[in-house]
Amino acid sequence: MKRIFVSLFLLSSLLLAQRTPLEAADYAKVTSHAELSGFINAIADTSKLIKSEVFARSVDGKELYAVYFSKGEFGKDKSKIKVLIFCQQHGNEQSGKEGALLLTRELLKPENAYLFDKIDFALVPQMNPDGSEKNSRRNGNSMDLNRNHLIITEPETIGLHDLFDKYLFEVTMDVHEYYPYGETWKNFGYRSNNDIEAGVTTNCNISKKIRALSKKEYLPFLKKYLNEGGISYCEYSPGGPPEKDYIRHSTFDINDGRQSLGVQNTFSFIQEGMNGKDILIDNIEHRTKGQMLGMRALLEYTYANKDKIKNLVAGERKKLITGKVSRKVAIQMDHFPDGSKLQLPLLSYYSNKDTIIAVNNYRPVVKPLVEVDRPAGYLIPKNLTELVTWADRHKLQYHDYRNSDGSVFEQYMIAGIDSMDFEGDITVNPYVQVKKFKKELPGGPYIFIPVKQLKGTLIITALEPKSELGLVTYKKYEHLLKKGELFPVIRVIK
Ligand SMILES: [Zn+2]
Repeated sequence: MKRIFVSLFLLSSLLLAQRTPLEAADYAKVTSHAELSGFINAIADTSKLIKSEVFARSVDGKELYAVYFSKGEFGKDKSKIKVLIFCQQHGNEQSGKEGALLLTRELLKPENAYLFDKIDFALVPQMNPDGSEKNSRRNGNSMDLNRNHLIITEPETIGLHDLFDKYLFEVTMDVHEYYPYGETWKNFGYRSNNDIEAGVTTNCNISKKIRALSKKEYLPFLKKYLNEGGISYCEYSPGGPPEKDYIRHSTFDINDGRQSLGVQNTFSFIQEGMNGKDILIDNIEHRTKGQMLGMRALLEYTYANKDKIKNLVAGERKKLITGKVSRKVAIQMDHFPDGSKLQLPLLSYYSNKDTIIAVNNYRPVVKPLVEVDRPAGYLIPKNLTELVTWADRHKLQYHDYRNSDGSVFEQYMIAGIDSMDFEGDITVNPYVQVKKFKKELPGGPYIFIPVKQLKGTLIITALEPKSELGLVTYKKYEHLLKKGELFPVIRVIK
């Protein structure tokens, strides 16, 4: 009798210990970084299925945790598929973190262990602890982490890409919140009211097959899964309001989490839970459940389609590595209509009821405006250390360049610098003249970055001076563009 009592006591205290900090606070306050650390460390001790690791530290020195779920050594069993979900890059979007902690607890239930017969899963509950503690969007350097995935200057994004590069996850998701209560929408009379919105990769350089599987199969699966769990859903559809501006399916810029991993032909997503209206804890229990179910849906879909996704990603990545991929790379693109109208679910401010608005100015298709031929690679003068550091942070393969007979080079003369509209923002758009030459290279020495590698399309997008997503569009690299001078990065044609 005494033994039964003791084991019941142990069981209940174990379950109590596994309540998330948000649950323990009865949903009255969001989880602090200290509470998150305590929860992860405590729960990691309760099961052989999980391990936690500090994979990076924030600007202010706070731990960034990865929680690894695996029935074995993580990443070792090549027959398994690797999934990475990371949350709360924006510190004022709290429910992703809360959903991740709840998911951790859920996944440790014995009835969910089957998932890890096929999946090795890494979960980063909180990318931006410094922002989270102040409930502000940016990190400790006042940088927007989700605009930092191309230049990767921040310790948080450097850490995440190190983690990705180490395991080359086939499936990834970046978890956020969207804020539907803006003034322009209020004036329009409607706002979004979906618990969860999710977006696929849209950059047109990313594998068409991966984009199609994401949109045509995963999103419908997600909708059904969420609706069955009492969570409303719509595809992530920023822009608008409908009479003012067009609606699209998010940016194609590769500086965000989803596209920066997507451009490496990853099955990659963004999930956006609805933010609170006035206070942090508005509806937080439901928001947390929605985020958790959305993350869980990705695991369930991946489990059910493991071989299909794994084979597709492996094949499409091999094309990047061997160069058997589209000869053209889009460096300027835009959103276009396809003749369809979007049936957008919205909440009416007048009736306080959900309704459907047909959006005429709907642009779901991303098409190229300016393309370049995929070169053999690029030469970067070694004295441009900011570019060499950038290549190192992305772990690009490169080597010292030795001039060889028969090579053909192209260099851009920057004839003028104009500007252009990019998704409603203004960015640089230089006029360039291409100079072709053989043999004599100006200056030197150089490193040679071949584009036949996993990050090949990322390299081209970053290094072309006319790329609207390129490095020259960032303050840190704008000095590379000088009117009347040669662009210092040289294209090697063969
Ligand atoms: Zn966000």
